[in-house]
Amino acid sequence: MIEPVAAETSVESADEISALIHSLHHSVQRLEDLTAGEVDAVVGPQGQTYLLSRAQDHARMREALRRADILDALPAQVAMLDHAGRILAVNLAWKRFGMANDGLAPDSGIGLNYLEVCEHAEGQHAIEAHQVATGIRAVLAREAAVFSIEYPCHSPLEKRWFLMTATPLVQSDPLGAIVMHMDVTALKQAKDELLESRQRLAGVIESAMDAIVCVDENLLIVLDNPAAERMFGYTKQELLNQPLDMLLPERFRARNGSYDAAFGKTGVTQRRMGAPPLSGLRKNGEEFPVEASIAKDRSNGRLLYTAILRDVTERILAELHIKRLNRLYAMLSGINMLIVRAQDRDTLFKDACHIAVETGNFKIAWIGVLEHGSQDGRVVASHGDAARYVEQFCVTTRTEKPDSLRLDNRALRQLKPMICNDIAQDTGMTPYLADMHQRGFRAMACFPLTVDGSPDAVLSLVAGETGVFDAEETRLLKELADDLSFAMDHIAKQARLDYLAYYDALTGLANQSLFLERLAQYMRSASAEGHQLAVYIIDLDRFRRINDNFGRAAGDSLLMQVAEWLKVHVGHAGLLARISADRFAALLPKVDASGDAIKLLTNAQAALSEHPFRLDDAVFHIAAKVGVGLFPGDGDQAEVLFKNAEAALTEAKSRGDRFLLYTRSMTTAVAGSPTLENQLRMALERHEYVLHYQPKVNLASGKLVAAEALIRWNDPLTGLVPPGRFIPFLEETGLIREVGRWALGQAVADYRRWRAKGLPAVRIAVNVSPLQLRDQNFVAEIERCLGSDGLAAAGLELEITESLIMEDVQHSISKLRAVRDMGVPVAIDDFGTGFSSLSYLARLPVDALKIDRSFIVEMGNSPQGLALVSTIIGLAHALNLKVVAEGVETEEQSRLLRLLNCDEMQGFLFSRPVPASEFETRFLGTVPRESSS
Ligand code: C2E
Ligand code: CA
Ligand code: CA
Repeated sequence: MIEPVAAETSVESADEISALIHSLHHSVQRLEDLTAGEVDAVVGPQGQTYLLSRAQDHARMREALRRADILDALPAQVAMLDHAGRILAVNLAWKRFGMANDGLAPDSGIGLNYLEVCEHAEGQHAIEAHQVATGIRAVLAREAAVFSIEYPCHSPLEKRWFLMTATPLVQSDPLGAIVMHMDVTALKQAKDELLESRQRLAGVIESAMDAIVCVDENLLIVLDNPAAERMFGYTKQELLNQPLDMLLPERFRARNGSYDAAFGKTGVTQRRMGAPPLSGLRKNGEEFPVEASIAKDRSNGRLLYTAILRDVTERILAELHIKRLNRLYAMLSGINMLIVRAQDRDTLFKDACHIAVETGNFKIAWIGVLEHGSQDGRVVASHGDAARYVEQFCVTTRTEKPDSLRLDNRALRQLKPMICNDIAQDTGMTPYLADMHQRGFRAMACFPLTVDGSPDAVLSLVAGETGVFDAEETRLLKELADDLSFAMDHIAKQARLDYLAYYDALTGLANQSLFLERLAQYMRSASAEGHQLAVYIIDLDRFRRINDNFGRAAGDSLLMQVAEWLKVHVGHAGLLARISADRFAALLPKVDASGDAIKLLTNAQAALSEHPFRLDDAVFHIAAKVGVGLFPGDGDQAEVLFKNAEAALTEAKSRGDRFLLYTRSMTTAVAGSPTLENQLRMALERHEYVLHYQPKVNLASGKLVAAEALIRWNDPLTGLVPPGRFIPFLEETGLIREVGRWALGQAVADYRRWRAKGLPAVRIAVNVSPLQLRDQNFVAEIERCLGSDGLAAAGLELEITESLIMEDVQHSISKLRAVRDMGVPVAIDDFGTGFSSLSYLARLPVDALKIDRSFIVEMGNSPQGLALVSTIIGLAHALNLKVVAEGVETEEQSRLLRLLNCDEMQGFLFSRPVPASEFETRFLGTVPRESSS
């Protein structure tokens, strides 16, 4: 049996062909009816011949001719075969084809046995020809209703395909057949193209990254691609014939049999950035964002939806990431603004947490801080919904504490950032997990904040989503933490300097300037409330002896114990001050009658003398002398009242009284001492003042680099008097202006002399008194002193105590600038004893800073003392100032200073101040630098 239809014959072409065959068959049938036994031959209008037998009448013949015409009009080549396969008749197309192909020539093959022709065919198309023969035989034998085959028949010029069909001549007996060859090249090509484009389309659908799903009018899936299977996690079998709804979460499912509600009328959903996207639903129940476009297709009369779905999880994550980074940058710049303005640490921390949450979009931010010098601390700043919750956290660097495994404490302990993108995965967070999850905490990053490299605080940031802390975000946050550390460092140093400015480093009590400020405040309220106030200046007896006999450390210890005793006795450290080595001040804010002030004082003095102070194993009893000043009677200005109380103390000491109340006569006695003033005035006329020079050496090279001129009074009666004994009087009387002018002139003269001798003279620093600087003519005086000689400026430097500069910063600045413009450098003397503001210091036109001797002494005594000097040096260098250490007495001090990068030192270690002649021989050398040969 032969398959009647070739396998690749498509439905469409078969339909068309069957229609054609049907009409043809009909014509042939009629022709057969007409010709049966009646017609011999019919000749067509163009001479075509049909073999007809026994033609009988014209009407029939005309009819037959008409039928023959129809056959001739057909484009297909048609031949009629008898039962044996002989060609009975052919149409015009057949003849033409025969002529063109020469296959069935000369008589278009009429009378030939077509079956034999095919069976004997050789060459290219032999196989098809054999099939044709077999097929026609099957039709003739009624074994097949129809046989058709498509075969190529290429001419050298073109490619052609034919469809050959054989159908039985049903009513003829014995059976004949109609053979028809039709050129189906165009059809075949269209079919091939269609096939190809279908394959292409199928390929595209198969390999598409997007899921493609077609559903029929019942919303059942009729087609899907591998991407759809991958994306949703189903197999093809699981998808086909299932409702599309199973790929969508509830809210996007079909309403009333349509997706209009979910996808919109247009059939395309477009998601704006940030808007919630359409979601897909995976087999495992996971929802994921998709972008969908749905096309409705009615072309076949049936409604079909084709949905193209794209998984946009990655893109949305990327968008979120960019959004987060933008927030983070905003947060960073906000916090950096804070850092620039930060005045104190706690405000900085609070504001930083606020910005982290409000701008950085963290769920919560907090900062835990270690207590000073301790391994434990607490949360000092937090912001966010659950701020209360984290405030209870313990901050610690100890491992034995229960809180120690929490991420923030680990960061603090290990001094490195700790990032946890999912707190559920971190065993250290397990104890907190339930609470934190309930608060929406998912990921956490902790950054240690350090001061001078040691752990001080830790910043914790919590996000509401997992996985947000990627490398880039972490890097930015780390930068932020470093900035915060820097700010803390700065604030700590500032605080320390502020502290220094107002407190005594040894006892922690206020210093004189803070005491005076407080005194002024209490005086204002005393006068407002109309009561009295008392100031006590307290001087310890025998203190110098203790210091000399037992050493400085013992002296310091005693001072600290006395300070403690005073605090306990007075009840409030804010009412106390240490104003010099062994002097304290106290104030009693409210005195009802002067008797009260004295009663309290005598009780206190009795208690003090009975109190056992301990030094090593020994017990000491000490006493104090006290000067008392009462407000408002003894002065309505804090400074005046204070000075008067001091005058009372001086008087008490000289008389040997345990205490004295101020009386007016006391100050006149001190300030107006006529003999001393006269003596000092005479000393100038008699040239009794001399300058001694103390070398300053470079710490790195050990070389002499400068010298300080220190004045002495060569009193003909008592010998050399140190400046501490007479300079206060010179300042009180204003004589310092003249004496200071002399000192300046003398120093410049000595320098010139050394230079004239060819000696390697160094710059000489001259101390300038407050009164001199305040003088209108100060700048002019320096100018005159330097004379026309440009060289003199190279030999002069001024030293001015900082407290004095600060008194009138604005004027000081312009004068100092003028001096420097002449080439004379300026140093701040006694640094650390009285300045009040770092910002002023930065503005001052000065070149060097001399660290007061008291700090150098303290430096060797405690780590704090060392840290302090280190801080001062660092700060000075940051402000581009040279640093000179004063009063260096030991090798150890000089070693430490060298380690701390201090520039220069001055002190007994290298040399005491020496007379000019000795300075010249010892330090400048007697041999002239340039030999006069
Ligand atoms: P100053 O400017 O702080 O001078 C440093 C003082 O420390 C000098 O005291 C010096 O002898 C002393 N000194 C230097 N090295 C050491 C050391 O290693 N250990 C110790 N314990 N002390 C050391 P001096 O000469 O008694 O001067 C005292 C103050 O008198 C000076 O303090 C300065 O303020 C003032 N003074 C000195 N000469 C003049 C001057 O010509 N004009 C003015 N206005 N004041 C002057
Ligand atoms: Ca000085
Ligand atoms: Ca000094």
